Amino acid sequence: MKKLQTTLLVIGGGPAGYVCGIRAAQLGVPTILVEGERLGGTCLNIGCIPSKALIHAAEEFERAKHFANHSPLGIKASAPTIDVAQTVKWKDGIVQRLTGGVGTLLKKHGAQVIEGWATVIDGKTVEVKTGQDVVRIECQHLVIATGSVPSELSFMPFGGDVISSTQALSPRELPKRLVVVGAGYIGLELGMAYRKLGCEVAVVEATQRVLPAYDEELTRPVLAALKKQGVVLHLGCSVQGMAETGKRLRVRSSQADEFSLPADQVLVAVGRKPRTEGFGLEKLQLDMAGRAIKVDDQCRASMRDVWAIGDVSGEPMLAHRGMAQGEMVAEIVAGKRRRFAPASIPAVCFTDPEVVVSGLSPTQAQEAGVEVITGTFPFLANGRAMTLESTDGFVRVVARKDNHLIVGWQAVGRSVSELGAAFSQSLEMGATLEDIGHTIHAHPTLGEAVQESALRALGHALHI
Ligand SMILES: Cc1cc2nc3c(=O)[nH]c(=O)nc-3n(C[C@H](O)[C@H](O)[C@H](O)COP(=O)(O)OP(=O)(O)OC[C@H]3O[C@@H](n4cnc5c(N)ncnc54)[C@H](O)[C@@H]3O)c2cc1C
Repeated sequence: MKKLQTTLLVIGGGPAGYVCGIRAAQLGVPTILVEGERLGGTCLNIGCIPSKALIHAAEEFERAKHFANHSPLGIKASAPTIDVAQTVKWKDGIVQRLTGGVGTLLKKHGAQVIEGWATVIDGKTVEVKTGQDVVRIECQHLVIATGSVPSELSFMPFGGDVISSTQALSPRELPKRLVVVGAGYIGLELGMAYRKLGCEVAVVEATQRVLPAYDEELTRPVLAALKKQGVVLHLGCSVQGMAETGKRLRVRSSQADEFSLPADQVLVAVGRKPRTEGFGLEKLQLDMAGRAIKVDDQCRASMRDVWAIGDVSGEPMLAHRGMAQGEMVAEIVAGKRRRFAPASIPAVCFTDPEVVVSGLSPTQAQEAGVEVITGTFPFLANGRAMTLESTDGFVRVVARKDNHLIVGWQAVGRSVSELGAAFSQSLEMGATLEDIGHTIHAHPTLGEAVQESALRALGHALHI
């Protein structure tokens, strides 16, 4: 058995783990990162990046189809077709470039990468099976960054026609009829993309709303778009299992009526759970917070010098949260004083229209006992949105009533994900409505709606 010693050992090479590895190595901390599958983790291989690639391809295809019908812009095109195998190849090319880049960055900064599945022996020792060999690694600091896995429905496990987002991102061919279980962001992003690619798509959701984690006003334009696109919604319904005859999904409505939906494939997107099993973690007897490892505001677990970052440390399970935690832990191990106290962790749904939130919604502010004022500016009154043929949606700002400190932003509309940077910067920097209202925003841009929403909250919007 080969033996290695290091200061920092990271299990998992997803965005949380690889960022931790890069930053620690940059700071001169001897670092080993163990990855069992592929560097980049869920995010780069089967999550954020491939889903956005597929969404983009579906949008382009839909645009081409739109031109083949009727375009007010005067553009004419003949009936387009799509070669899905080529689309997947193109998507895989992007994934390969990015995951290869992660390996290069870790190497460049001096972190050692070991390929293989790690098993925890104790809080300072891990064994890794690499091919026929076993490597035993001793460390001072152990970082658990093992991510998450898709949740299964116990009565309808993944396999055959029942797929997770992972299979949905690499279709060999498109199903004629896809049923999506779960109207959260992953289900809707992929459901909308499949619809644009030409599939018949139905969505079954247990609650009465799409995107139930977001406030209703924000999700209304998404609901309208789903209906316009011809996605059939079964809200307040629960899935019972596949019919014995196959190719049909049994569903029960909130009134307890049972019916079945035709389904060549069923995409189960009912959430993800932290990956805490199967690698000896239980030996550490760490305190848990539900299914996630419980951490403090420095991502320390309940055992000394054991850390947990990214999805394995709980919600919100987002790549940028994991990266920020990874960077922070590396700096603490290197001797810097840090703690995880972001003013906000933005979240985006890459549906059509997109949704972005940062900080508190009006309801969340109310629940926190903060008296707020809000300002909403619709894209209908924004020149740039008109030139993009995308006037659905709005920007909303939430600010304290007493001193106008901004506590939250929400937007829904085309390309609003890009406004997330401005939203989070204003929150981190403690901007007030006056700060944003008096900042010159370039014309014509969607960003002008950000300025106008702040002015509207102050009672003097200029363009509405
Ligand atoms: C379809 C989809 C779309 C998404 N879109 C977005 C998005 O747009 N924006 C966003 O912010 N987030 C998105 N996410 C979520 C995002 O992918 C995760 O939040 C992020 O990848 C979590 O990073 P992580 O490093 O904690 O874990 P992961 O990325 O899951 O990485 C964990 C790594 O650890 C490795 N590992 C686990 N156990 C061991 C072991 N014992 N030994 C060695 N290696 C091990 C795994 O192989 C994996 O590579 C999406 C997820 C999905 C599924």
